[in-house]
Amino acid sequence: MGFQTLTILGSTGSIGKSTLDVVARHPEKFKIFALTGNTQVDLLFEQCVLFKPTYALLVDPRAAQKLEQRLKQMGLKIDVLSGAKDLDLLASHGEVDTVMASIVGAAGLSSCLAAAKAGKRLLLANKEALVVGGHLFLSQVNSGNAKLLPIDSEHSAIFQSLPEDPSTWDQRIQKIILTASGGPFKARDPSTLHLVTPQEACRHPNWVMGQKISVDSATMMNKCLEVIEAHYLFGLDPKKIEVVIHPQSIVHSMVQYKDTSVVAQLGTPDMRVPIAYGLGWPDRIESGASQLDFQNTPPMTFEDFDSHQHRDRFPGLLLAWEVLNAQPGSTGVLNAANEIAVDAFLNQKIKFTQIHEVNRRTLDLFAPGPITSLDDLLILDSHARLVARSVVEDLSKL
Ligand code: NAD
Ligand code: MG
Repeated sequence: MGFQTLTILGSTGSIGKSTLDVVARHPEKFKIFALTGNTQVDLLFEQCVLFKPTYALLVDPRAAQKLEQRLKQMGLKIDVLSGAKDLDLLASHGEVDTVMASIVGAAGLSSCLAAAKAGKRLLLANKEALVVGGHLFLSQVNSGNAKLLPIDSEHSAIFQSLPEDPSTWDQRIQKIILTASGGPFKARDPSTLHLVTPQEACRHPNWVMGQKISVDSATMMNKCLEVIEAHYLFGLDPKKIEVVIHPQSIVHSMVQYKDTSVVAQLGTPDMRVPIAYGLGWPDRIESGASQLDFQNTPPMTFEDFDSHQHRDRFPGLLLAWEVLNAQPGSTGVLNAANEIAVDAFLNQKIKFTQIHEVNRRTLDLFAPGPITSLDDLLILDSHARLVARSVVEDLSKL
């Protein structure tokens, strides 16, 4: 077999860097076609020197100019692009086999759809793209004959625990159980959560990740987005999706079958495992992660979400079932509100607990219209952001 040619969207992020770590272990298997980032010149430059892609892209035009100059000085022939539009081009280019979608937020939606339409193997870390894209995303995967493989550790675990033939899933599965670490505040007194600082929220006990997903893990909005993601990926009724708190992050998620058997995937918490699975599928390739050492593993515990004041601590999680049962498009409204709220919290405009208030109020204030195209989704996303921003303004005046 020849090389698998890869575009990594968001190569300068946490998932992007882990992907390159796995790729570097298999020079005989993978070739990098394109690397992309938002603004980080130094890091993308280093990655270009090491992986020699055909294309590099930075969304920020001035950063792209700097990158181009530095690559020229090195005598490296890499075409440098800028602007968000060309992300679609690099995701759908005829020379590309596989696209790692690891941009954060709805900013990655258009390039995901471009990869889907072009029939790529699409490794999806960018959960927000599926939460916003919903059925349109899936219909483009189908019509493009793309292969969608989950990278989120929980969804990779479920995918690994399911039979190969998706047509059997609905009939055989009782439910799927997503595990959640509970993040840094799983034992914190809910009445003190308004005091949480961005720094505290970003300090996850088990994973080192980008800022946005770290805050989402602290509010458990990450699990909320993951319930929605699981609904679309596995075609399951929201009632068949459960969440259980498992602070050790060893069981990455589980499938319970009709006969009550539970099949799970276990491992050390290291994103290189699901990334290697996506890159190698259906084969297994070395990931670089350390092995699970059963002699020295902490006792594994599981807590019901409904106990231990978790409903007060993490009111956002339940929004998943609410928006899945509401009009199509509501998942996109929630995602837009949450992106605005997290950004406002990181910039200290609102309190940690007000993230949920922004999400709640935006959902109450904004009803989505019908969705038949990417443009409809982008308009919905930008309108919901406007509403969420005005809620942030109101809250920050208090
Ligand atoms: P990150 O912040 O570390 O990286 C984000 C990447 O996206 C960077 O390369 C950045 O340059 C790029 N980017 C940001 N804004 C952009 C824009 N407007 N246009 C184009 N590119 C832009 O984030 P991350 O932790 O790597 O997460 C990436 C995605 O993967 C998220 O959707 C997250 O939910 C998901 N994910 C991450 C982890 C993890 O362990 N980090 C686990 C599961 C899922
Ligand atoms: Mg996850």
